[in-house]
Amino acid sequence: MASSSSYSSSSCNSPCAACKFLRRKCMPDCVFAPYFPPEEPHKFANVHKIFGASNVSKLLNEVLPHQREDAVNSLAYEAEARMKDPVYGCVGAISVLQRQVIRLQKELDATNADLLRYAGDSCNRGTGRGPHHVGQNSGSYNFSSPYDPYGDHRNQRSSGQGNM
Ligand SMILES: [Zn+2]
Repeated sequence: MASSSSYSSSSCNSPCAACKFLRRKCMPDCVFAPYFPPEEPHKFANVHKIFGASNVSKLLNEVLPHQREDAVNSLAYEAEARMKDPVYGCVGAISVLQRQVIRLQKELDATNADLLRYAGDSCNRGTGRGPHHVGQNSGSYNFSSPYDPYGDHRNQRSSGQGNM
């Protein structure tokens, strides 16, 4: 991930992770070599399983060279998330984090309201300074996920989509 340029020319020594995985000769102009070093075999394995090597190579050829590393990192992230959660992939993580943000925002609002109330009490001038909805949130901590990763839709349909 860190050094992307050092493998492009030295690929005759050891094949990149992609070519090693696909059991083919790693040519000097291999499109995978700069982004899939041999030290990270799982990175290509994941990406290949989810997106398929031919799709990845097509995508890399469509993207400008300076954007390829970002594209590969994005694919690797997405592939890893999809391996962990075949149904929702990284959307599941985003969803959980969004709920967390909403919950923390509510907590912050409640704490700010508390703060205002105490400040108002101590100064004796805090009448009618905003809604006091403090008690609503403090006891209602239930972290229920919006999705059920391993619910009743546990078929294997989604795992074969990108396998070409
Ligand atoms: Zn290669």
